[in-house]
Amino acid sequence: MDRLKLCMMTLTRSSVGLLKLFVLLFTAAAALWDGTVFSQQQQQVQSPASVTNAAGIAMVEIPAGSFMMGGAESPESVAAFFTEYGRPPEYFADEYPRHRVSITRPFLLGKHEVTVGQFRQFVQATQFKTEAEQNGSGGWGYDAALGRCIGRDLRFTWQDPGFKQTDQHPVLNVSWNDCQAFCHWLTQKDGREHRLPTEAEWEYACRAGTATRYSCGDLPKSLEVVARSLDPKTMDVKLHVQDLPIPAEGDFPFTAPVGSFAANSFGLYDMHGNVWEWVSDRYGERFYEESATNDPRGPAEGHRRVRRGGAWNSFPLWSRASFRNWNTPSSRCVNLGFRVAAEIAPVAKVNSSTPSVSIVFVGDIMLDNGPGHAIASGRDPFFGCRDLLRSGDFAVGNLECVIGRGGKQLLKPYVFRAAPDSPQVLKRYFSAISLANNHSFDYGVEGFVEAIDILEQHKLNFFGGGRNLEEARRPFVFAHNGIKVAVLGANSFRGQDYAATASSAGSAPLMEENILADIQASRKMADAVVPFVHWGPELSTMPRASQIRLARRMIDAGASAVIGAHPHVTQTVDFYRGAPIIYSLGNFVFDYYPVDPPEWTGWVAKLTFTADGKVDLDTTAIVLDAAGLPTPVILEDALVPPQTIQSTTD
Ligand SMILES: [Zn+2]
Repeated sequence: MDRLKLCMMTLTRSSVGLLKLFVLLFTAAAALWDGTVFSQQQQQVQSPASVTNAAGIAMVEIPAGSFMMGGAESPESVAAFFTEYGRPPEYFADEYPRHRVSITRPFLLGKHEVTVGQFRQFVQATQFKTEAEQNGSGGWGYDAALGRCIGRDLRFTWQDPGFKQTDQHPVLNVSWNDCQAFCHWLTQKDGREHRLPTEAEWEYACRAGTATRYSCGDLPKSLEVVARSLDPKTMDVKLHVQDLPIPAEGDFPFTAPVGSFAANSFGLYDMHGNVWEWVSDRYGERFYEESATNDPRGPAEGHRRVRRGGAWNSFPLWSRASFRNWNTPSSRCVNLGFRVAAEIAPVAKVNSSTPSVSIVFVGDIMLDNGPGHAIASGRDPFFGCRDLLRSGDFAVGNLECVIGRGGKQLLKPYVFRAAPDSPQVLKRYFSAISLANNHSFDYGVEGFVEAIDILEQHKLNFFGGGRNLEEARRPFVFAHNGIKVAVLGANSFRGQDYAATASSAGSAPLMEENILADIQASRKMADAVVPFVHWGPELSTMPRASQIRLARRMIDAGASAVIGAHPHVTQTVDFYRGAPIIYSLGNFVFDYYPVDPPEWTGWVAKLTFTADGKVDLDTTAIVLDAAGLPTPVILEDALVPPQTIQSTTD
């Protein structure tokens, strides 16, 4: 019996096995698979159990296990086998070294790629607009007149890639960022955390116990059974995929409805071909050299995200289980979709009977200009977010301006100063504010001291600034239900220019040595410590590599979470050793300037702490109106990180 027939026979067997049985068989056969060729043993494996999530997506329970990740044959062998593509062995270098990876916990993985119909459910429930629709740049699609795919073009979105897609076809023209929003929605709907699979989980699931080029063998021909893929015989392979003419005939000239081909041994369809699939990891060309063995998650830094598996218009060279490709997170394409993974256990909510303390963090509050006028005319700039601000035990914000009338204005492009009575409105919501930023010193040391005096008169707590450096570095401690949370403020934007010294007033500059020492000291007297740092590149959606490193060191030093502000826009959210890192909350109350984006958005982040050190993160997106005043939004205008996230280990 040849390999192809064996494969077909196994895959058409509709066995729904017991997971335990599967794990046993899997473990027994694992040793054979590592570094060896396709073996008949794996064909005896029972399919894992499957479940359907709250959105009706069929998920397969993928067992924990260990496998060899990366290219099983040498790069020279790949180059020689696929010689007609003209790729040198170096082209495949990122698939090496082959290394052992353990997936330590079972997880759920979509049986199919996410379909147009499933994505439409999400859009109808949330009014979500994909990046291709949002910014007017469009997506990729098939231009019938040209007979090939083109992009970006406004005509093309997930709803219309220029060719017919039914609700059963895989969705495409969705960016990595769009996938995050979809997963967030699923998490809320289902109660289990939904996410993209990691690159390791993806390859593990794709291989399903095999060590061959494809889950069905080594020969490109074997793909006919499992994949909507490109038949190299019909094409001039020298052309770039974009330039390929699309044959008008055939069952599936473009994508195929999901599940049109045979499943692999895990019961997963279309892992090869149909659409490329986004995974969660950042791309690192040399990541395999340093990859962790257990549950690797890709490099901590970098802008590119990995996609896997090849597509309907990919040659078999690119559909191999070990092949790695990447795009920037806002890329969208006519052959790029995704499949979702989920945790097996529901997201753990903090039990209401467990004592906890929750603190609501907001970003930059600037009470000059539009917001200042609003206050002067009797409006409450926080009114639109009153429920959010009061949803925790305490609220904290960054006051990005001076308060008072005195001092000497510094020579700088923007200076902000709020009226002396503005603490009255702040006090309605905020328990403490941070002075660690680049505007609390806009009227020099005199203006800074006057603001402190005013805050003290109004009995509004502050941190991150003081009459001397010692005071500026002192944490503010929130205590509730017997739990203490210390918050530290530090400013890194021209931090030294506005810094307090041993004898003069100013803010706490963000210096690694100091902040780590302050976190360690605070940890001794509080159950949790949160540095609230003013840092990062303005108007950039990504933090700097140096921030990612420092955030991790702060957590290593004992911080339970890291909250950032200053860039005016929100940035990515990371988790490190279970601790959330929000690099930038964006603006909260902030005016517009003619050169600004047409709309500011931000996040309100509620952190809930329990005495055992667990932290829950809950975020809400807000949008600012023309006067710079915020109201909450639900997904329409901003991408939101998962609403509630269980602490995880990195
Ligand atoms: Zn700032």
